[in-house]
Amino acid sequence: MGSNWNKSDGYYVEVGDRENILFPPRCIVCDKNVDGSYIKIQGNPVGYYGAWKWQFGLNPKIKVPAHIKCGHKLKRNILFRNLLLFFLAAIILIIGIYFDWNRWQIIGLILVVLILPLYWQEKNAPAFEFRLEDKIYEFRFLNKEYAREFAGLNGVSIKE
Ligand SMILES: [Zn+2]
Repeated sequence: MGSNWNKSDGYYVEVGDRENILFPPRCIVCDKNVDGSYIKIQGNPVGYYGAWKWQFGLNPKIKVPAHIKCGHKLKRNILFRNLLLFFLAAIILIIGIYFDWNRWQIIGLILVVLILPLYWQEKNAPAFEFRLEDKIYEFRFLNKEYAREFAGLNGVSIKE
């Protein structure tokens, strides 16, 4: 892992909704060759019903080249981060309702509580994740070189 790895946020690539999205033939997690091994990754929650769909595994899934072990690690990573977000959202909702807080108090609490997942993301950002919104895929990669190659394969470029 050299300077191509950006631990803070990563590199975003947008691709229009299409049948086959092409990936470089390397593991999305460890960047080493994979022998046709892949995992299925579910898109992150989007919109009002997104969290429910995500919980029941109903969000769009795509095949991503990865070693089985690396893939499980990645999935656990995404799962944990998303559950952390839901947990915090639920706490905010309960506190807001229980104490009958107004909108500004709730927004203040959200800002304070959001520091946790942001800090977590900074330290443990998944190597890869994506979401599909309005027929546009937004992919996030930690590895810049991988992101660049991916973008090239799909005829787009990295979002600046
Ligand atoms: Zn791997």
